[in-house]
Amino acid sequence: MRNYNLVHKESNKHSQKLRYLKNREKHLDYARTYRKENINKIKVWYEKNRETNRIKALAYYYKHKDDPGFKVKCYKRKKKLMTRLYSQVSQCNLRSPHKIHIDTLQRVFEINILKFGILSCYLCFKPVNFGDDSIDHLIPLSRGGDNSIENLGITHRSCNCEKQNKTPEEYKEWKKIYS
Ligand SMILES: [Zn+2]
Repeated sequence: MRNYNLVHKESNKHSQKLRYLKNREKHLDYARTYRKENINKIKVWYEKNRETNRIKALAYYYKHKDDPGFKVKCYKRKKKLMTRLYSQVSQCNLRSPHKIHIDTLQRVFEINILKFGILSCYLCFKPVNFGDDSIDHLIPLSRGGDNSIENLGITHRSCNCEKQNKTPEEYKEWKKIYS
């Protein structure tokens, strides 16, 4: 049996991969619905295992640091993040004479994560997914606000759209009336 497995290792791998690709959508669908139904359970699990997960991730990183494939993966992820940051910087700079640096924006993200644990919207206090984040000016640029760290916050795109040119206090009042 052992010999058989050794001899057919490659073809087994291949057929496994084919089977996976064939049922990929089904698997993904199942994972999505499971995640939706058990989101609270998953959150609790993450909260409980945060430290061990971090150590595991670090160990994984040091083990695979020099793999070419892993390097490419890291590079792609970083590029995706940086592209997004740069586009946000240029959006802020377009509308204000007070120019902003990319480090400032990165600091805003760090402060938000330190404050809430994970990236969260400061208007509705719910977690923000990657790609759904947007930079908000507490005092809007159109009303004399600037691009300083104290005047920047992370929000959902939808929350930022609703806020428009209100201050956070005005937004809360507005929300009370219209929801
Ligand atoms: Zn929000």
